[in-house]
Amino acid sequence: MKETAALPIARTVSALRQMVDAWRAEGRRVALVPTMGALHDGHLALVRQGLRQADRVVPSIFVNPIQFGPGEDFAAYPRRVAEDAAVLAKAGAHGLYLPSADEMYPAGFATTVTVAGPAQGLCGAFRPGHFAGVATVVAKLLLQARPDVAVFGEKDYQQLLVVRHLVRDLDIPVDIVGVPIVRECDGLAMSSRNAYLSPAERAIAPQIHRILLDVAGRLAKGGDIAAEEARGRADLLAAGFSSVDYLEVRDAETLVPPASLGRPARVLAAARLGCTRLIDNVAVPGSQ
Ligand code: AMP
Repeated sequence: MKETAALPIARTVSALRQMVDAWRAEGRRVALVPTMGALHDGHLALVRQGLRQADRVVPSIFVNPIQFGPGEDFAAYPRRVAEDAAVLAKAGAHGLYLPSADEMYPAGFATTVTVAGPAQGLCGAFRPGHFAGVATVVAKLLLQARPDVAVFGEKDYQQLLVVRHLVRDLDIPVDIVGVPIVRECDGLAMSSRNAYLSPAERAIAPQIHRILLDVAGRLAKGGDIAAEEARGRADLLAAGFSSVDYLEVRDAETLVPPASLGRPARVLAAARLGCTRLIDNVAVPGSQ
């Protein structure tokens, strides 16, 4: 078996900049892959995409307190940094950025980045403050690492569009690259939060993908948007989801609700199984 060298770990902004500046001095192109850890194959697809786009890939692991609301799972969120570092080294990452909460938000920290537009509605409506927390930490990570490329998953489709908007509005010089959702064999989108599911919940969970595909398929055949959204929500409840935050059709680039399907569209959903909140999304075939 091939030995993997230990992954260099930067825990401070200055150590990260030293690492990235040294690569830059050698003329290397650098990709940043922001994560909250508890890594799975979805995260590794981002690392592989980073390796295709750049010469050096540095993932970050930071469970960002300010993107969790009161009563959400910040404390329970899985943390297993040693395993993550080993997996990243094996996947070919070149370094790991592992800041502490104090490094990211030192005493006196007082700035929040808020994005309107794509951050409104969907998860933005059900998780107040979430995208401000995401935009703030992503702006910081991009300014800390100063990468050429940053890689994000379509799993968090609204987040991807928020980040694209943020970078454009603030003239942050980085290419944002999106990666398609990596799924389990039964269609469930991989997520660190899947570990919360009981066996009974895990058996129901893939239905969110199947129902989204069914809605998208019927829309592609000319189904009515509002009727299909309502049917999709009812199907989620019938499949055993405890509640549905939303199931909505949105423009794939702006997330504005479309009046009709002339442009690329996406069906997005968030639904709860017991204490676990699952999100997923699919493209409407033929709309792009
Ligand atoms: P997280 O650690 O959940 O904050 O996710 C870090 C990054 O990995 C985000 O850009 C996510 O969209 C992406 N990601 C998480 N799960 C998947 C997946 N199943 N497929 C593709 N990307 C994913």
